[in-house]
Amino acid sequence: LFKEVPKGYPEPGKTTVYDTSDTIDLDTVALNGSILIKVLYLSADPYMRGKMRDPNTKSYSPPFTLGAPIDGFGIGKVVRSEKEGLKEGDIVSYHAMQWVEYMIPEDTSYIEKLDPLPGLSLSTYIGAIGMPGKTAYMAWKEYAKAKKGETAFVSTAAGAVGAIVVQLAKLDGMKVIASVGSDEKVQFAKEIGADVVFNYKTTDTEEVLAKEGPIDVYWDNVGGSTLDAALGNSAVLARFIECGMISGYNSGGQPVSMKNLMKIVSNQIDMHGFIVSRLFSKYNKEFNEVIPKLIKEGKIKHNEDLTKGLEFGGEALLDVQVGNNTGKKVVVVAEN
Ligand code: NDP
Repeated sequence: LFKEVPKGYPEPGKTTVYDTSDTIDLDTVALNGSILIKVLYLSADPYMRGKMRDPNTKSYSPPFTLGAPIDGFGIGKVVRSEKEGLKEGDIVSYHAMQWVEYMIPEDTSYIEKLDPLPGLSLSTYIGAIGMPGKTAYMAWKEYAKAKKGETAFVSTAAGAVGAIVVQLAKLDGMKVIASVGSDEKVQFAKEIGADVVFNYKTTDTEEVLAKEGPIDVYWDNVGGSTLDAALGNSAVLARFIECGMISGYNSGGQPVSMKNLMKIVSNQIDMHGFIVSRLFSKYNKEFNEVIPKLIKEGKIKHNEDLTKGLEFGGEALLDVQVGNNTGKKVVVVAEN
């Protein structure tokens, strides 16, 4: 349950609490034309911090309701159904899956029946084949205008979105510079093909980019001083893909001193901010034809970081904000 608006990082047991007081009888609970879902996998995402806010403040995604279960992307199994087209045993994905063990959605129009490819774990459908994978693929296709031999810089390169971006850039024949927050992540980013990988906590971003740049495409997941360093080392006609700014999510987005903003003008940079849902209708079909196959064949690698047990959901939410995850953070509520 969402319990309290956090001031800084979300605190397990305080911002969110695990609560067992609300129970339902699975055999008799009324469905009213809906379905009863057993929740299997839940996605812990950076954007969820933005939903832990005062309900009176506006943002692109509605706030969580105090006292109610939080929700996000999830995969579940239909236990009972009164909805045409869905039957017991079907696997479904839903963008507003509640962080509960069983749920009955009020509105079933956005419930998507999955036909998972054999050999791929169901959790992949909230990671590399889910929203983060779509974010990487769709925005890369739309904005990167990648050319062979050019240089891309990707921040949070060992994360759910960043790791896919690194591999798309390599498939397009680019040199890839990757920044990550730990030595373990350096290893992973190398394994997925990044050419130059550094830990931004121990190595100066500015120095690496000055040596390895200039940057033709910057995939920005962090904002702040990293964005400034990327601007300072941008090529003429560079493309900046503004995907996220996690460096400010837990500090109220405090301003950082930017010394290189004029580069946007002088280097004639295309800056593209986006929310992935806008790109769904254009790229969903293509994504479904291309990415699951590449992942199944191992041509695009992905990594998952599993937290087992809904009772540890609060820890999973914090992990993503502080960087304790390598790859897609998934909460395993049940395995089948
Ligand atoms: P990740 O799996 O990459 O997890 C978040 C990572 O952010 C952490 O592991 C950590 O990696 C890094 N991080 C945390 N704090 C900081 C900090 N202060 N400075 C720099 N890096 C930090 O998450 P996702 O791949 O799911 O999301 C990546 C970004 O993409 C986020 O900004 C998210 O909001 C954005 N996003 C945007 C979408 C859109 O539609 N525009 C859709 C989906 C995601 P490290 O240890 O390497 O620092």
